[in-house]
Formats: sequence, structure tokens, C-alpha cells
Amino acid sequence: MSASDTTPPKLGEMLHLRGNTLAKGDPVALPLTQSSMFHLPGNWQGEHSYVRAGNPTWDQLEHMLAHLEQAPCLAFPSGMAAIAAALFATLKTGSRLLIPSDGYYVTRRLSARFLAGLGVEVTERPTAAFRDGGFEGFDVVFFETPSNPALDMVDLAAAAAEVRAAGGISIADNTTLTPLGQRPLDLGVDIVVSSDTKSMGGHSDALMGHLASRNPAIMEAAGEWRSFSGSIPGPQEAWLLHRGLETLDVRYARMCESAGVLAERLAGHPAVQAIRYPGLAGDPSHALAQQQCSSFGFLISLTLESEEKAESFINSCPLIRPATSFGGVHTSAERRARWGDDVSPAFVRLSVGVEPVEELWKALGRYLEGDL
Ligand SMILES: *Cc1c(COP(=O)(O)O)cnc(C)c1O
Repeated sequence: MSASDTTPPKLGEMLHLRGNTLAKGDPVALPLTQSSMFHLPGNWQGEHSYVRAGNPTWDQLEHMLAHLEQAPCLAFPSGMAAIAAALFATLKTGSRLLIPSDGYYVTRRLSARFLAGLGVEVTERPTAAFRDGGFEGFDVVFFETPSNPALDMVDLAAAAAEVRAAGGISIADNTTLTPLGQRPLDLGVDIVVSSDTKSMGGHSDALMGHLASRNPAIMEAAGEWRSFSGSIPGPQEAWLLHRGLETLDVRYARMCESAGVLAERLAGHPAVQAIRYPGLAGDPSHALAQQQCSSFGFLISLTLESEEKAESFINSCPLIRPATSFGGVHTSAERRARWGDDVSPAFVRLSVGVEPVEELWKALGRYLEGDL
């Protein structure tokens, strides 16, 4: 299956999902419902009852997320909370779990520190060779593609079919490309998880995540996990993400387009020793990204001459915010080696923001020029 067989959401319709239900005089912007209790006389008939089970602000957020994923969705208070829910909803003692060795490091730490201790056998493989060796014997296979930070990719349609044929459940962390750039459920993956702290929220002001699946048994288990473990989002954060999603389309389009322009120019820059961006014709992920994704994302991985050059670029280049995390409206960068990722000390993960691209290029190009 290729990206053209998928069913992208109508984003104009998404913006009017709630508006179309309003009565005369209702507020157009989503009200923030900051209440842990709900007025509940008599027997319970499915109304809101206690906030751990649901809240009108999340209902609207989940409605929007479900439209984006074209699948039932659950909101979580962070990307890790969504990842934990997907893993705890599908694994039990004796299960075998396959995860990437080069993906987001906390997924590995959660698996090693807690799942292994509960009797889950955890195996790691590099993303670039994830399908090598097959998926026979694995109960749950976790993909992250493009991987953060190296931007290697997995062929999701082929891999998900192989996992299913081997009797396993597949999960994809779709944080880096969002449902606008890549649609794992349409490619046959069972569960999508995302850190909405990144470009989904987009303003670097809220930690959030979500899980989506078209498998009702999985959604029921993940919902029970959320409610019983108390891993629930606060209404304020849900409201912030709902607001962020209203501009996701324009932010994401600008960020990806600018990243494409910058990657082409950076690739030919003498201060850049190596570059990874799936949109570049020579990139190892390019062919697969063209087939599988509808955009190449806004993350660029750069290797400069030395750790010192990388630090100076990150900390002193105008229009770059030195910060961990990515996907915000402000361009930001960091050296992933400082957190122990298996990359060169001169490796920079650049997250392109919404600044006008020529203004950005002037800042970045000139800085690298002067820093040669
Ligand atoms: C940030 C990130 C996470 C974790 O998300 P939080 O919202 O910080 O819990 C998971 N996966 C990827 C790929 C990420 O970039």
C-alpha cells in the first residue's frame, strides 16, 4: 500500500467539528471545563461523572484527534503516557517485545526498567535494519519512523503485514511526522502513539500525547489502563492542545516547506560534514519516505566539524533557540550526544520553526559561513 491509498482527514471539516454542534449564543472557542465533579442527581446514565473517566474539554480534543487519525483516539498527559498505555494494554508476563535501539530513549528505559522486571522479554534492533531477522515470535513490535534523532525509516506497510502474519501486534510512534505527514493505521499498523508535546501542540507550552487504534479490544484495554492507572490529561493541557491543533495544518506545512529549502542549502554548505533529511534525493530514507509519507518533516540532522562548532551554532546562531524537544513554532536545536544518544558529539538535531525561510537562511547560512 502506498500513501496514495490512504484516507487523509479533511482539515477544514476538522476546524468546524465543534462549531457545527453549537446552539445560538454558545461560545465559538472551546470553553475550558475545570471541574473534577459533575452535577449528578439520581442514577448514572452515561453522563460525565468524575473527571478521571472523562471531561467535556477532552471530549472535544479527542473528537478532533479522532478526525485527524480517522480512528478512535484517547488523549494522554504526555507522549510517554500514551506509549506506556499501548505497551501495558498489549503485553503480559512472558510476552516478547521488539523496540528500536535508536529511537526515543525513554521508550527503551521504560522497557528495561519496568517491563523486563515484569517478565517481558525485550529485544532491540536498529531502525535501519528493523525488518532484518523477521518478526516471528514477537508479541508486540514497536516502530519509530523516522527515528528520532537519526531519521532512519521502516517500511510500515511491509513490516506491519509481516508482524500480523507472525501473530503479533504492531505499534508506531508517529511523533516526528504527525498524522498529516504519515498515516500508520492506513498502512496496516494496529496502534499509533504520539507525543503531542511536539508539533501537534506546537507552542512549547504543554505536555500531551495520544493513542489511536481501529481495534476495539485494544481501545478498551488502553482506556481501562488510562482510567485505572490515573494517567489522565488535565483539562488545561487538553485545551491547549485543542487550540494548537486548530493551526497544525498551517504550522506544519510552513515548517516542512522551510526544512526542505534549508536542507538543500545546508547539504551544499562547506561547514556541514553530513546531513540527514528524508526529503533530500541522496538520503538513505528518501525512496521510502516518498512512497510512505506525504511530507518529509521539519527535523534536519546535521553533523558539523566538531562538538565546539556544534555548540557555538546551537547557542549563538540568531533565530535558533538552544533547547531540547522539537516541533515548536521557534526554530530550536540541540546536541543529542548530551543525552547519551548514539550519535557524534558534533551531531545537531535542528527543528525548523515557522520563521520566514529567507530570514532563517540568512541567519543560519551566515553564521555557518562566519564559523568556518
Ligand atoms: C518526545 C517524544 C516522546 C515522549 O513524549 P513526551 O510528551 O515528552 O512524554 C516519545 N517519542 C518521540 C519520538 C518523542 O520525540
